[in-house]
Amino acid sequence: MPDASNPSPIAPTVTSRLWTAGASGGVASAVLLAVAALHPHHAPVLLGGVAAVVFATWMVSRPRVRVAALPAAPASDAPSAAAAPDPGLLDAAFEALTDAVLVVSGGEPDDIAGRRVVLANRAARDLLRIQRDGAILVSVLRDPLVLEAVDEALFGGLERTVDWTGVRDRHWQAHARPLACGGDRPLAILILRDDTDVRRMELMRVDFLANASHELRTPLASLSGFIETLKGHAKDDPKARDRFLDIMSAQADRMGRLVADLLSLSRIELNEHIPPSGRVDLARAVTDVVDALSVLTQEKEIDVVVGGADAAPIRGDRDEIVQVIQNLIDNAVKYSPRGGRVEIEVMAGLSGDEAVAARMGASARLPLLTPERDASTRHAVFIVRDHGPGMEREHLPRLTERFYRVEGQKSGGDRPGTGLGLAIVKHIVNRHRGGLAVESAPGQGTVFTAFFPLAEDRRASGPEAPTL
Ligand code: ADP
Repeated sequence: MPDASNPSPIAPTVTSRLWTAGASGGVASAVLLAVAALHPHHAPVLLGGVAAVVFATWMVSRPRVRVAALPAAPASDAPSAAAAPDPGLLDAAFEALTDAVLVVSGGEPDDIAGRRVVLANRAARDLLRIQRDGAILVSVLRDPLVLEAVDEALFGGLERTVDWTGVRDRHWQAHARPLACGGDRPLAILILRDDTDVRRMELMRVDFLANASHELRTPLASLSGFIETLKGHAKDDPKARDRFLDIMSAQADRMGRLVADLLSLSRIELNEHIPPSGRVDLARAVTDVVDALSVLTQEKEIDVVVGGADAAPIRGDRDEIVQVIQNLIDNAVKYSPRGGRVEIEVMAGLSGDEAVAARMGASARLPLLTPERDASTRHAVFIVRDHGPGMEREHLPRLTERFYRVEGQKSGGDRPGTGLGLAIVKHIVNRHRGGLAVESAPGQGTVFTAFFPLAEDRRASGPEAPTL
C-alpha cells in the first residue's frame, strides 16, 4: 500500500487519487439525481443511494496517514553545507587520526634548521614529544632517512616511503609527500604509521615456513640418503636392505604426521573465531580415545587409569575435542617410561579457579591459555598426569609454540613428535573458549589440564525438541 512517508514510484499521487474518487462519486450522484427527477415515486430510495455514494467517496478520499512534516532545509543552504564543512570539524578529524601526521615547511634547501613543523596532530605530538608549533624538525626527528624523504618532498616534489625504527621499540613507515598550498615556502606532509604488528606477523609467517621446511627437509634428506645407499653398496645385502627400508618407512611416517599436523593446524586457525555449535560429552570422548590408544599403551606396558565424572557435556566440535584429548594422552604415554602409569580424570561443574587448581605437589604451574573470566561459568575439566621425565620451569611458557621441543627430551619410542601437538591443542581450546594449564617438575612428571564451559542444560533453556 502506498505510504505517504515512503512513496512508491508506482503509487498514485494523493491529488490524482482524490480527483479519481471525487469524479466517480460526482458522476454516480448526478445519474441517480437525474433518474429520481424522471421517476419521482422512486425518489426517496434514489436519494438514499446518492447519500451512500457521497459517503463512500468521502471515505475513499479522506486523508488516512498523518505525516509529521519535517522542516524543509532552505534550498540555498543545502549545496553550500555539503561543499564547505565546518572548519572545526576538519581540525577535530585531523586531531583524531591514529597515525602521526605532521606538516613541515621548508626554508632554504641547505639550511637544515629551516625545516619546521607547522602542524602536528595529537598522535604526532605524543610520539615525537613536540611541545609547540614551529618546532625545528631535526630536533624532534633525527633519522637521516626520514629527513631525506621530507627534503625530497619539499624540494624535489617527490613522494617517498621509508622505514623508521624510531621510538618505543616499534617499527614505523614514514611517508612524505609534497603539499601544494600556494604559499611562498614549500610544504610537505609526513605520515608515520606504526606497522610493528604487521611486521611481526610477517616475521612469524617467514619463521613458520622456514621451520616447516626444515622439519620436512630432515626426513627427506634421510630418505634420499638411504635410497642412494640401497642403489649402491647395500644392493646385494638383504639384511642391511631390510633395516634401511624400516628406517625409510619410519621417516615417511614422520613426514606424513608432520603434513597432517600442519594441515590440521591451518584448518583450526581458519575457524578459530567461529565458536563450535555441536555438543560433545567430554567423558565419553575420553573413553573413546583411551580405547583407541589401547594398542599403543599395551605395547609400552603403560597402565592407564581413568576416573571421575560419567558425563560432562560441553558445546564443541567432537573431532577437535577428540584431537585435544588424543594429543595430551599421546604425549603422556610418549614421555612415560616403559611400564609407567598415566592417570586421567574428567570433572564436571567446576568454577574457573577450581579448574586450574594445583594438582601436583612442589612443581611449577603455568596457565598456557586463560579464557575470559566469568564467575558464574561452570566447567568440564580434563586432566592427564604422567610420571615421566617432567620439565624445567623455563620450558613451560614455550610449550605451545609451533615446533618447540624440550631439548634432550626422549619420547621413548620410534615416534618422535612433530612439535605441533600442543600448538594444535591450544588453538582448539581457544576456539572452544576454554583454558589450558600445565604443571611439571623434572623427575616428577607432568599434569596437563584442559577445561571448557559446561553446555547449558537444554531442559533449562526450553522444551526439548521432539524425537523423531
Ligand atoms: P611433540 O609432538 O614433539 O610431542 P608437542 O607440541 O606435543 O610436540 O610437545 C612439545 C614438547 O613439549 C615436546 O617435544 C616435549 O619436549 C614436551 N612435552 C610435551 N608433553 C610432555 C610430557 N607429558 N612430558 C614431558 N614433556 C612433554
